[in-house]
Amino acid sequence: MDSPPLRIIIVGAGIVGLSLSIMLRKAGHHVEIYEKSKFSQEVGVAIAMGPNAMRGLLSLGLDPKKAGAVDHLQVGGVSVFKMENSITGKNLEETYGMPYYFFHRVDLHNELKKLATEPSLNAEERPVEIHLGSPVISCAPEEASITLKDGRTIQGDLIIGADGVNSTIRRFVLGQEIDPQPSGLVIYRSVIPFEKVANNPIFTWITKLPEAITYVRARDPKDKHYLLVYPCREGKLLNMAGAHPDKRTDKQETKNISSPSSTEEWLETFSDFAPRYLEFIKLTTNVTIWPFLIWDELPTWTNKQACILGDAAHAMFPTLAQGAAQGIEDAIALGTLLPRGTPNNRETVAARLKLFESLRKPRASKVQTLSNRPGRGLPRANLGECAHIVELKSRNNSVGPVVEGELEEWLYGYDAAEEARKALDSELLLHLAKL
Ligand SMILES: Cc1cc2nc3c(=O)[nH]c(=O)nc-3n(C[C@H](O)[C@H](O)[C@H](O)COP(=O)(O)OP(=O)(O)OC[C@H]3O[C@@H](n4cnc5c(N)ncnc54)[C@H](O)[C@@H]3O)c2cc1C
Repeated sequence: MDSPPLRIIIVGAGIVGLSLSIMLRKAGHHVEIYEKSKFSQEVGVAIAMGPNAMRGLLSLGLDPKKAGAVDHLQVGGVSVFKMENSITGKNLEETYGMPYYFFHRVDLHNELKKLATEPSLNAEERPVEIHLGSPVISCAPEEASITLKDGRTIQGDLIIGADGVNSTIRRFVLGQEIDPQPSGLVIYRSVIPFEKVANNPIFTWITKLPEAITYVRARDPKDKHYLLVYPCREGKLLNMAGAHPDKRTDKQETKNISSPSSTEEWLETFSDFAPRYLEFIKLTTNVTIWPFLIWDELPTWTNKQACILGDAAHAMFPTLAQGAAQGIEDAIALGTLLPRGTPNNRETVAARLKLFESLRKPRASKVQTLSNRPGRGLPRANLGECAHIVELKSRNNSVGPVVEGELEEWLYGYDAAEEARKALDSELLLHLAKL
């Protein structure tokens, strides 16, 4: 007889929690998400989704057009940062069979929410229930239950913490508090309507390659200030970011995942950039400031009937644009390991979560270590220029050797579903051999 569907509780309805919920509802499981926010003020900036993330998102049924995605066509470099050997979205699609897109976060989030909650013609597929304004304060991994701030306890067959860098579930999975620390680097973020720059000759550094990622770096390689610009929402908006060393002194403030800032502050911080860039900064509104938090690879991601994934397990610097991409890979892998008919018993669930960890933790932690290099005083790992990575050693294991081009292939060529299917097949064969 078929096993009944699993009752799966996800904490956090970010990009990763929603992606996972779509995988799991497609497998016929009953999924509920508890989300502390009411999503009345979603973060209005953009996100770059490389081929490995797109492989996952397209398999979920995401229509990039509906989400206003912009195809990343060129890479533009200005200042001393030459990008002659740069990859482009077109090259990537030819090589890896998947595009590279830029999304406005709200557009991507809304489309994922729709895919999670829309009714299905398939009677065995139940839409995901999302409970907004529902902060979770604790989790009992052995009982597969969570407790909400309002005092209610909710029981499932497994609990998944997709609750971001300051995860609550992580504390209960690890049995200890991990306190991601400010690295001293932060980034301003805002979006600018493209029409504001379209006809102004001072902005040709942007308008000549409107579908490019453009970096503006200081001449001194030791200088940590840089600007990053790329389009989103059908090219109607330009995403604008400005990384720099944090000047703030309030310890708590430096750990807040995002805080309000201002155009004036941004202008002051980048005051020695050329006037054409300052004119661009002047167009920003609703500026926020985000810290690059840093922490080591976690000892584990799972505990009995509970696990963590996405930023809760491996938040990283955005240097390789892989934070959400790795979380999407996690979601695809975990969904693949819990197919329709997964035996609904504690041993199987715990074993599948362990399998998930063994598959995902080494890879995502490696990407985290590579991404966090600037926070440890090491040169950044760029996709086309990986010579330094060979020297890199993480605390317990060597990350290398990675040579020119290998990093790109290793990141973008990865198929999370395929890897998870292979791992599950081997596990099932092993199980049969033991009978
Ligand atoms: C400046 C910057 C640029 C970036 N650019 C890129 C990029 O180009 N490409 C890329 O792949 N990644 C990028 N990232 C990383 C990416 O944003 C994150 O990795 C990704 O958003 C993490 O998604 P998540 O769903 O794991 O976590 P989150 O997006 O943080 O979602 C967690 C959710 O859990 C909820 N939650 C938290 N605690 C609780 C609780 N106790 N109870 C209930 N709900 C709770 C939160 O409200 C939130 O909705 C960037 C990050 C930064 C800072």
